Amino acid sequence: MLSDEKYDSGALLLNFDELIHHNPEIKKERLAQMHALVRNEGLDAFYNCMDEFGIGREIYLHETELQQIAVSDSRDTADVADEKNEIPVQLSRSSGLFHRITAHTDVREKDRSEMTVIENQGFTSWEGTVSNRPVLTFMPRSVSGLKNLVTWANTEKMRLRACGYRHSSSDVFSENGQSLVSMVNVQTATKLPAKYPKMDPENDLEGIQLMGRPYQKNGLTKIKCKIGAATCNYHFQDWVHDPAGGNFNWALPLNVIMTEISFGGSNAMICHGAGIKNPTISDLIQEISFINVRGREQTITDKALLRAAAGSFGLMGPVTSLTFELDAMTYASFKTVQKKPLALTIPPPVGNSLPAHVLKNLSSENRALLDSKKDLDEAFQHFVDCCENYYYAEWFWFPLQDQCWINCWNNDGDPAKSVRYPGASDTSIQRAMSYLAYLADECLGDHTPSVVKKIQTKLMGSLAMWLLPDKKDIVCTMEDALHFRSGIQNFKTRMMEMQIPVPDLPDTGNADWSVCQKAWWAVLDVFYTAENMKSFPMRTTLEMRIMGGTQNIHMASQHGNQRTCCIEVLTPVAVDEKVWDKFLQQVLDKWSELRDCHGRYLNIRPHWAKRFDGLMITRDPSWLDEWDDAQKAVLQKYVSKGSASISVPMRVYMKEIAYKEQIPEFVRKLEIICKKGGYTLTDMQRRFSNPFFDDIIYDHADVVSVKRVPGRFGKYPLFSSSGRHSDQSCCAGVTSLFKRRLG
Ligand SMILES: Cc1cc2nc3c(=O)[nH]c(=O)nc-3n(C[C@H](O)[C@H](O)[C@H](O)COP(=O)(O)OP(=O)(O)OC[C@H]3O[C@@H](n4cnc5c(N)ncnc54)[C@H](O)[C@@H]3O)c2cc1C
Repeated sequence: MLSDEKYDSGALLLNFDELIHHNPEIKKERLAQMHALVRNEGLDAFYNCMDEFGIGREIYLHETELQQIAVSDSRDTADVADEKNEIPVQLSRSSGLFHRITAHTDVREKDRSEMTVIENQGFTSWEGTVSNRPVLTFMPRSVSGLKNLVTWANTEKMRLRACGYRHSSSDVFSENGQSLVSMVNVQTATKLPAKYPKMDPENDLEGIQLMGRPYQKNGLTKIKCKIGAATCNYHFQDWVHDPAGGNFNWALPLNVIMTEISFGGSNAMICHGAGIKNPTISDLIQEISFINVRGREQTITDKALLRAAAGSFGLMGPVTSLTFELDAMTYASFKTVQKKPLALTIPPPVGNSLPAHVLKNLSSENRALLDSKKDLDEAFQHFVDCCENYYYAEWFWFPLQDQCWINCWNNDGDPAKSVRYPGASDTSIQRAMSYLAYLADECLGDHTPSVVKKIQTKLMGSLAMWLLPDKKDIVCTMEDALHFRSGIQNFKTRMMEMQIPVPDLPDTGNADWSVCQKAWWAVLDVFYTAENMKSFPMRTTLEMRIMGGTQNIHMASQHGNQRTCCIEVLTPVAVDEKVWDKFLQQVLDKWSELRDCHGRYLNIRPHWAKRFDGLMITRDPSWLDEWDDAQKAVLQKYVSKGSASISVPMRVYMKEIAYKEQIPEFVRKLEIICKKGGYTLTDMQRRFSNPFFDDIIYDHADVVSVKRVPGRFGKYPLFSSSGRHSDQSCCAGVTSLFKRRLG
């Protein structure tokens, strides 16, 4: 059992900070008043005080105020910890200030030691879009430990969700009052500047092991490789180049760019890389093992079931390992990686003259190039060639830059010329520069004059462009080429990414790449409006990748596509969230307008791991003609008579339109997996889902009878400081407390 810890009232306030850290209305006096209330009059008075503000409206504690209180309260907290011989750990501000790291006597690891757990630690996703406070955050180190953890969760009727590096920006983690399994050590995942611990041979959940012998498939040599779910991309990168490991023999054919990402995380969210021949990461999975709701390790190898299991958002239970299909090593040649003027990178679509506000802001060189049909035609042919024939195809525009970076290469490099890329010193420089840039942005904040924002944007873009290669004769392993940029973890950004299917041209079966041109220039259109040229919402980059699709993974946002345009906008987290959201909606409004050659709207779908909740899909009333009767009935409330447009919230759009056919298929497969494991879908949902998935997956009409399963909170009180709530045996969640108190 966990100790019935005594927290003082100050710690209580600190623990409360995530719930109240946004609203600028609260003043220092109010905070002091609340603090005094808790000290002198206890929790009830505190709750009454909170009633006054309402939980929906979050209250902002200024950082320095928070720090002052932290200092004054830390003595008490530390004293209590000393008495118990426990270590209070200081984590990032966004995670709350003081938490208690301890060991759980009921949940044992393989060696019978108690599993490490942190009580009441606030959770914040990397981008800061998701904040909640699980009662317990476990850090398991063994498969047996995870089994015991699930068994414990069953006894306590706790929901359990995993996390890796917390890079996903959608609401896919744990929730207030429930439990979280941090597969990556919490400090490693949250502390900046990032550290890169080696794989721990004592940790069952980390590890890389080749399985069986190489084999031939589609003319390529392949091998199976089992990877622990807590293993990260930088571990794999080290292993690939380690003579005692992969020894330059094997590579993943695709991956996300960032190295600070766990395999459990990138697979759960069906992540992707680039290249027309490449599907998603989940398509590479040959076997997935997880701890099911009965506390047993279950393994799926059946191809039909893998279609659901290999991209299942952690809904089956904590994943322990994944077996990937690796390719024999090939080498990337960066000779074709180059910088080009914006006008000739992805030229504007033919016949669509650029709006005046875009033209006005382009450099004279770019404007002149737009007048040269020959140059534009050649540029388009080059773009198509990159999309259709290059192993890897990616484009970047750093805002306010006259040139773009074209990261398109083939894997035909000469192994004899291969070097590590980026090299050791460049890696250190990139990591340090990312962190410094992040600190600078955070210091500046967003309350700066337009001219400062503009300089900041221009400077960052120039620096990024300066670091990137241009037609250099560099050859490196596939693994290094996929992770061409280091230190991304140190520069927190906001992101939105949509997967846009690239349709066929009429009658030919060839790709209509003009969709990519339209999507690309739509961002420039929005970026250069007079309004946005004051606030500069997008200060990091516009990125486009071309990849294939998948006919395989049910819940992939590329499902059913032959080719996919993955287009993304990024900005530093320092940019005002409201300004950014407005910009995202403006961009999304343009992407939502894209249609195929028959005039049908394209089935654009957000990346599951990026920001999308709260955005709307807005289209003209002809959209109604694409809906069947069931959709019309469900979506009727979004259609107003006489209105020039229909706006549907993103989540509803995903449920009822974008994934209408995929969700039932996915759930059907999950049901079979449950049956094989000897439990029901309801059991699984109850233990491993969260409100987001309850809504989007389990609440789908005609799929299952299970609706939202109300979480029963465990018996551990979230705060037990005053003793007034010591009799409250079944109500640990902040949300539940506030829901109860504030309605
Ligand atoms: C800067 C940046 C760059 C990115 N680049 C790319 C890119 O190039 N391509 C791309 O497709 N995506 C990209 N992403 C998205 C990223 O790959 C996903 O967010 C990925 O899920 C992050 O992995 P993670 O270890 O942080 O997992 P988390 O975000 O911590 O977890 C993601 C989900 O996986 C579940 N999960 C994690 N581990 C387990 C486990 N062991 N068992 C069960 N469930 C588990 C969690 O419950 C959660 O639902 C990027 C994100 C960032 C922030």
